[in-house]
Amino acid sequence: MSNTEPVPRQCPFCGSPSINTHEGLSFHAWLAQCAECGASSGEIRRQTTGAGTNDDWDRQAALDAIAAWNMRALDSDIDITWTPSADRLDIGGFYDSFVGIPPISMTLGQFFEKLGITEKHISKAMRNHGLQRC
Ligand SMILES: [Zn+2]
Repeated sequence: MSNTEPVPRQCPFCGSPSINTHEGLSFHAWLAQCAECGASSGEIRRQTTGAGTNDDWDRQAALDAIAAWNMRALDSDIDITWTPSADRLDIGGFYDSFVGIPPISMTLGQFFEKLGITEKHISKAMRNHGLQRC
């Protein structure tokens, strides 16, 4: 066993740093769960026989649940690609290995319309960032 205790990564769904470990619904199962939105690591089976005590096994199951949570938190990625020559904005990715984001492709105009971004907003943003307009 390592001397370094794993620190739970922040929630990939809501950004909360409050991740707790507790017993799951299944017999001798533990999980790590976001206190804010309820996302979880999935249940980790706890050792039930052999060397050690119930407290040792609970402690190890909680550490294993944090390790599983951290893998899930690492696995999220959102890709946004802008291709000016094709006037296409491609958005896709995945929250984790279980939940994908359906890929979307649209023009920049469609993107602005979808978000309610007007020419006035764009002009203001470009001015605020010191970008020149032709
Ligand atoms: Zn969360």
